[in-house]
Amino acid sequence: MTNLRKDYLKTIKKIIVKVGSSTLTYNNGLLNLSHIEHLVRQLADMHNQGYSVVLVSSGAIGAGMGKLGLKERPKSIPEKQAAAAVGQGILMHMYEKIFSEYGKTVAQVLLTKEDMTNKARRENAHNTFSALLNQNVIPIINENDAVVVDEIKVGDNDTLSALVSELIKGDLLILMSDIDGLYDSDPRKNKDAKLISTVDKVTEDIEACAGGAGSNLGTGGMATKINAAKIATASGISMVIVNGDNAEVLGKVIAGEEVGTWFKADVK
Ligand code: GLU
Repeated sequence: MTNLRKDYLKTIKKIIVKVGSSTLTYNNGLLNLSHIEHLVRQLADMHNQGYSVVLVSSGAIGAGMGKLGLKERPKSIPEKQAAAAVGQGILMHMYEKIFSEYGKTVAQVLLTKEDMTNKARRENAHNTFSALLNQNVIPIINENDAVVVDEIKVGDNDTLSALVSELIKGDLLILMSDIDGLYDSDPRKNKDAKLISTVDKVTEDIEACAGGAGSNLGTGGMATKINAAKIATASGISMVIVNGDNAEVLGKVIAGEEVGTWFKADVK
């Protein structure tokens, strides 16, 4: 029997990894250094294997909350933006520091919805990514939270990472979550819930498995991940949801192991 994942992985080059606030920061908003170290080491290792690697990282608002000593996610827009502005610098400082230990060069790219929808800006963003990847740089992307408001915002990094995958014509999108993947019912409520290993097509039944829920720190939940899967798979890009608590999970995905939930790309 052929292995769907292994077959797909044979031809891939460009990998986009999205990591959420709940993986990068503790509930109190301070950085989870152990997770960040593992993440960076795995990404650097993938890069050493010859893949182009793009990281979409949340955590700006979470890290800003920690630094500013905020106990809860700020409610007002200016306060959220201030937290993001503080936190984005903290995040990049950490990434710059750890990636450079592995000899890797990173670049910060902050995007808004307009960069995806406006033709000229889209082309510009596309060219920037091509130039960075051609020079072996690992771009680290977030939404430009310090200036965007709801009207001009993608709003969650699951969707943003799928739009970026489409923009740069990526081959595989990996969403790192705080859960093992998509279950057939909510595993927090139902102890018999089963992990779905492969999704051939995002149907209404699959969407129904997703529910809503997010954490105190991030904005995503399973629903935004399913939305990301729809965008990615429709563009011919396979996507996988994995648990970011598992230190070696990216290596396992690349080796074709059956971790997480794999969403099969539509044929281009
Ligand atoms: N851009 C937000 C941040 O860095 C995260 C959005 C999300 O959680 O999806 O805090």
